[in-house]
Amino acid sequence: MKAAVVRAFNESLRIEDRPIPTPSAGQVLVKMETCGLCHTDIHAAHGDWPVKPSPPFVPGHEGVGIVTRLGTDVRGVVEGDRVAIPWLGYACGVCEYCASGRETLCPNQADSGYSVDGAYAEYAVANAAFVGRVPAGLDPLDAAPLTCAGVTTYKAVKVAGTRSSDLTAVFGIGGLGHLAVQYARIAGASVAAIDLVDSKLALARELGAETTVNALTQDPVEAIQALGGADQAIVLAVSPRACEQAFRCLKRGGTLVFVALPADNVMRLPIFETVLQGITVTGSIVGTRVDLAETFQLQVEGRTRVVRESRRLEDVNESFEQIQKGGIDARLVFDFRQ
Ligand code: NAD
Ligand code: ZN
Ligand code: ZN
Repeated sequence: MKAAVVRAFNESLRIEDRPIPTPSAGQVLVKMETCGLCHTDIHAAHGDWPVKPSPPFVPGHEGVGIVTRLGTDVRGVVEGDRVAIPWLGYACGVCEYCASGRETLCPNQADSGYSVDGAYAEYAVANAAFVGRVPAGLDPLDAAPLTCAGVTTYKAVKVAGTRSSDLTAVFGIGGLGHLAVQYARIAGASVAAIDLVDSKLALARELGAETTVNALTQDPVEAIQALGGADQAIVLAVSPRACEQAFRCLKRGGTLVFVALPADNVMRLPIFETVLQGITVTGSIVGTRVDLAETFQLQVEGRTRVVRESRRLEDVNESFEQIQKGGIDARLVFDFRQ
């Protein structure tokens, strides 16, 4: 089978011919139809983060495909099912985090396309208990971005505690951001979208953002404080500077939600203002299996719109470059059926 492989950090990915993997106990073999390109895959290929994957590895955690083979002891999934392979490839089910509904914090987790091979391949194995069920009527090209960008921002809006009278600032209108705008709108908030690229801001307006700010030409802090300040700021821009601006956009009692994971892992956080203004700072990591099901449901109901362009897996390196240059509005999705 064809797979895109990271052989070494900061080298181009290689398209290799690999044997089709065999599902172990509890696993299924999935014939991939599509896989989205998340900016996390670029961080993985560059070794950007404090905890690094071990090359060689196959990235990809927005995989969607059809189950073609079952390992032993598989329950609840049958051959022919359309499933999604998300970032959370496995969690132990028994630790205090799993037992309290916080499986994304499980210290014994496996992460697809990072600690285990992912979905940039014609076939991948996945733990049956952790695949998402793609509902009938959901296009695999839409399901792929929802499997990480969707569920992550759906959850981030929950973590932010967004309510109908709120102003929510969304920093970074890329793959994640174009969906975050929609979930904040569904929660009833007014949305201010901040990016560096005008076409992304135009898309944010189309998707319901009332206010847009190009941070290259306008100070987002001034613009959002002029509106009274944001109740929440959700940071999806791969930039510590955006995190600092997001903090300063908040009104008193506001909440800053970190989602993006820039290679430069630090920002300046003023203690005095955090205390005196009662600011909450929190992180949000992907979402649970239930969050993913809810994310798919909103799309099936026609309440969200996934904006994406298709590519062939062979174009993976050019695709990484385009995303890093900000040249793609929203998501790229590899289509294995092309
Ligand atoms: P993306 O490249 O599609 O989008 C990033 C957007 O931020 C782009 O539109 C870019 O123009 C914009 N941007 C860059 N610098 C900016 C700045 N200073 N101010 C405003 N906007 C700026 O990336 P993505 O796939 O949406 O992922 C975003 C980040 O989220 C990545 O770091 C990724 O690893 C991370 N991520 C985190 C989780 C999680 O669970 N916490 C899940 C998925 C992705
Ligand atoms: Zn992702
Ligand atoms: Zn656990």
